[in-house]
Amino acid sequence: MENGTWKLENRFMDKQKELDKIAREIERCEICKVGKNGKAVPGEGNPDADVVFIGEAPGKLEAVSGRPFIGRSGQLLRSLIRGIGLDDGKDVYITSPVKYLPDRGTPTSQDIAHGRIHLMKQFAVIRPKVVMLLGRVAAEGVLEIKVKVASEHGQMIEEKDGIKYFLTFHPAAALRFPNKYKPLLQEDFQKLKKLLS
Ligand code: URA
Repeated sequence: MENGTWKLENRFMDKQKELDKIAREIERCEICKVGKNGKAVPGEGNPDADVVFIGEAPGKLEAVSGRPFIGRSGQLLRSLIRGIGLDDGKDVYITSPVKYLPDRGTPTSQDIAHGRIHLMKQFAVIRPKVVMLLGRVAAEGVLEIKVKVASEHGQMIEEKDGIKYFLTFHPAAALRFPNKYKPLLQEDFQKLKKLLS
């Protein structure tokens, strides 16, 4: 094996081990579980990804399987990722600030603030170049800011420590109002593609 390939594989394995350790912490975390149910959904994908997609909180299907974005929103997200030439399993990492299904569906500010602790540990391991924030909760969970997605989407809303933060809608918005939001989401993914090229 070439030395460069060997180093890359080693880095991949080391990062995967670190992410597995964080996943075990999430599974054992009693604070995460308050007001929530189902399995932990720590996230999945390439541990050395350049791009990380951040959602909101797992839905029912995710809470049964322990995998992120496998329901209807996930199918749309994954097809948008493939639509810009990336493999949703091998090229990117997908997760959410909140790691368990909230009893009431929508996470509270406390859920988001606590989930951030685990999410920041995951970022420190992956060290992505671009973070795609899928909606308001993602922006709050990652950057601790309140955004108006309708007027601020489709652009890099922050760049710090070598990471670009790009804002778009959560795919659930496009499922609820396809005529309004799906074309905007598709446009934003094309902008992301340009940012990555
Ligand atoms: N919506 C999210 O934000 N995350 C998931 O994992 C599934 C649906």
